[in-house]
Amino acid sequence: MSDGGIDIRSIRNIGIAAHIDAGKTTTSERILFYTGKIHKIGEVHEGAATMDFMEQERERGITISSAATTCYWKNHMINLIDTPGHVDFTMEVERSLRVLDGAVAVFCAVGGVEPQSETVWRQLDKYKVPRIAFVNKMDRVGANFFDVMSQIEERLGATPVPIQLPMGCEEAFAGIIDLVEMRAIEYTDELGTRMELEEIPQAYVDEAQKWRERLVESLAEVDDEIMEAYLDGKEVSREKIKEALRFGTINLKLVPLLCGSALKNKGIQLLLDAVIDYLPSPLDIPPIKGVNPLTGEEVVRHTDPEGPLTALAFKVLVDPYVGRVVYTRIYCGTLHTGMSVLNATTGRKERVGRILRIHANKREDIDSAFAGTIIAIPGLKGTRTGDTLCDEKEPIVLEGMNIPEPVISLA
Ligand code: GDP
Repeated sequence: MSDGGIDIRSIRNIGIAAHIDAGKTTTSERILFYTGKIHKIGEVHEGAATMDFMEQERERGITISSAATTCYWKNHMINLIDTPGHVDFTMEVERSLRVLDGAVAVFCAVGGVEPQSETVWRQLDKYKVPRIAFVNKMDRVGANFFDVMSQIEERLGATPVPIQLPMGCEEAFAGIIDLVEMRAIEYTDELGTRMELEEIPQAYVDEAQKWRERLVESLAEVDDEIMEAYLDGKEVSREKIKEALRFGTINLKLVPLLCGSALKNKGIQLLLDAVIDYLPSPLDIPPIKGVNPLTGEEVVRHTDPEGPLTALAFKVLVDPYVGRVVYTRIYCGTLHTGMSVLNATTGRKERVGRILRIHANKREDIDSAFAGTIIAIPGLKGTRTGDTLCDEKEPIVLEGMNIPEPVISLA
């Protein structure tokens, strides 16, 4: 099953979680900037960008102003879901976390783990959302990658595993060492166009070697094959390291740690690569549960485009161009325009006239959307945030969501 060349395995539904001021907005904008350079899937205009381009995009208001924004990176579809900045466990937070398959936790390299980042982290823990951590603002005075790493370990009880090292910091933050590929990326211009060095600079070789060994050591804990190689003193291949990192991240055993400076355009492209490499696709997440509102029986639905339609309306917004739209995550089945769906929460049927994919600066009409995707549906008058939309023949109300209204009429 594919959608414009994208299959379910290539979808990433992610949120960016952060303490206020850590750089969530800047990081999101930079992600849209770099992914915006890919106008068609597979067509990458590398190095073609100028500062002008960025300014133009800014003028057009290329910011995350919607509940979810679709962008593409290296033949993958990334749906960036807006996570509310609330600090408490409200229904709103619950709903937005429910639709994420993975998250990027952004920390300030100076402030580290702040009280609010702790709250957000605990929420992600509660919903078992796999995550990677991005230590932002490496260019600021007082930035310290290793302090933030210790704080993540001590205060959040997580196992951060550096997969990068900063080359220099504060004013002198010039690049990043990639511990998986064992190469250095030096940034030479304002747009963060990267220059790959063939070798890690001599001054960093020992440190990089030490942290590469630690990386392998941490992975030995989650992968038997790496453990054996480690004990035998054998080399572990780059592919094997990536596979174990992905497995460990998806299974919540470890958190890959990255660094950069969103403001200075450093590290964003590597962050996007890590989203693709280590965060789960909709096929990697556990099946979603709910209840049949007619029988009270528990129902389990897998990410299957051929299965019965199961979708969650997670946010209702008024779009300046389209009017009221219902942001919807499809967990199972395929939604087509013209289809009649059951809102199992209200017991009423609704017709889906249009399906929209929301990009940073445009709305795209699509004919269908399958399990794993996130779309916006205009014109669903009776659907509220938290309602379950499904196939009327196989009704389901998703667990923990709005309780169905007392009288259910399937007429
Ligand atoms: P948010 O509250 O988490 O969305 O944070 P913002 O993205 O709005 O950033 C807060 C402030 O930090 C703004 O003034 C940004 O320009 C600044 N900022 C963001 N990223 C960086 C960075 O990498 N380096 C520096 N020095 N400042 C940054």
